[in-house]
Amino acid sequence: MAVDQLISLIGRETDPARVCAGLREYARKGRFPVVGACETVCSDEAERESESVFQRLFVKQMLPVLKSGTRAAFGTVNLGSRYEPGAIQIAEDHYATSECEQTAKLMVVKINAHVAVQESSDGPTYGRMDRYGCRSTCCGALASMLAGGDLPAVKELAQAFRHDGNDRLETLNDPNKVPAKYRTLLAAVTNARLQADRAVAEISGYDPKTPTKWLVLSCVSINRPEPDTELPVGRHLIDATADAVTTEYQGLGDDPATYRVEHDKDGVRITDDRWPESD
Ligand SMILES: [Zn+2]
Repeated sequence: MAVDQLISLIGRETDPARVCAGLREYARKGRFPVVGACETVCSDEAERESESVFQRLFVKQMLPVLKSGTRAAFGTVNLGSRYEPGAIQIAEDHYATSECEQTAKLMVVKINAHVAVQESSDGPTYGRMDRYGCRSTCCGALASMLAGGDLPAVKELAQAFRHDGNDRLETLNDPNKVPAKYRTLLAAVTNARLQADRAVAEISGYDPKTPTKWLVLSCVSINRPEPDTELPVGRHLIDATADAVTTEYQGLGDDPATYRVEHDKDGVRITDDRWPESD
């Protein structure tokens, strides 16, 4: 089943093509008259690859024609892949065509945080990338946040990381709570989840223009010297076709103190107290 395919990838590093295949199957199985997409990615040029894969393997195959020969997702590109308030509402308005006045359309909201990895005989090292003959941070916005930077975008990220009174920044910077070698990886996982939560909160409190089912997928792009991989963090399904909006979530929680990191032949695997579900 399509749903299971996507769910089976949560917490596991995988080929981004498999993530797009899971999304396509979900969309096709639901027989939606229209499929729209709203994508959020970081400004880092390393993330153009993630956009390109999503464009080629999901958008071009599933979205309506924008103009001759062109299909496109509604997109936000900013420092640290912050969900931009209002984005889902404007995107939903665009894809609310006459075909979906009676039958619900599907809106896919894909939010990608990111982290670079370099492999060596000592194992993977996260958070830095060799590019242009130099080594630089990746994701630089999250690295700045972890270091206490004061750019407006970085302050907004930090605010999201302190949501609900849980100081996830303090957790990530405490080597007794999060191993220092996984700090940047787990900051990206936490960010993907928190930014998705912001989108979900907005979806849950807003009346779409036409009946809509939402699939919000939070992911971490893992930027590599070879083709990038991707780690799905969680998936929200929100049914806003009736007055009572329903939401179900499957995936990792939002507390970096609870994440467990393992590596196997397929790459990194992350679990926590709520994922995978035991029953
Ligand atoms: Zn970044």
